[in-house]
Amino acid sequence: MLMKARKTMNAAAHASSKEEGVPVSVRIRERVKAARKRFHANDNIADFIEPGELEKLLDEVSDKMEAVLDSLVIDTENDHNTGDTARRVAKMYVNEVFKGRYVQGPEVTEFPNAEHLNELMIVGPITVRSACSHHFCPVIGKIWIGVMPNEHTNVIGLSKYARLAEWIMGRPQIQEEAVIQLADLIQHKTQPDGLAIVMEASHYCMAWRGVKDMDSKMINSVMRGVFLKDANLRREFLSLIPGRG
Ligand SMILES: [Zn+2]
Repeated sequence: MLMKARKTMNAAAHASSKEEGVPVSVRIRERVKAARKRFHANDNIADFIEPGELEKLLDEVSDKMEAVLDSLVIDTENDHNTGDTARRVAKMYVNEVFKGRYVQGPEVTEFPNAEHLNELMIVGPITVRSACSHHFCPVIGKIWIGVMPNEHTNVIGLSKYARLAEWIMGRPQIQEEAVIQLADLIQHKTQPDGLAIVMEASHYCMAWRGVKDMDSKMINSVMRGVFLKDANLRREFLSLIPGRG
């Protein structure tokens, strides 16, 4: 346990360098602020993290998570189940479920639309995993993406849509904002005539706590370009989504 080991370190060793006394989260936050960028829960801050800092951030989150367990009056020293929980939770946040905040977006190669595809293309269902910004409870569901290409639209591989979605959803999110962020990203990468996204997800903050409703799902959508203007196209897209027609 990192924190307990650290408590025994002598003060002189701790104060060896002034930089060391500043938590890495503070250094990162200062860079973000200096650049006048936002660092909301669903923002990506990878540009402000220097090599090696993510490991230090993991240590910091781990220490603070240990403090949360202490405040919950859990005997992590003697309880064999929770001895490493702080570190596990820190790893889960930083390296897994919220990774989309801390790492650069996936490499996506765009190709010119050589075949001049101009038919509605639908990708999905793509399974998405996220967590709500309000409670940090899981949000798990599916998305469908409809793309109406034109001859200038860039083409990206089908699996890339899933990688882009994973990056956006790997942050504490609000479903309405998540689909807009994903739409902006796909729009930017592919420049289609139209883009439609439907997301259907279960919010575990409503199942595990709160109203304890196990079955409610939230569905929302974003429509861009021709999907906004053309009701028939919109209907066609929605009718082609299995179970959602
Ligand atoms: Zn919630």
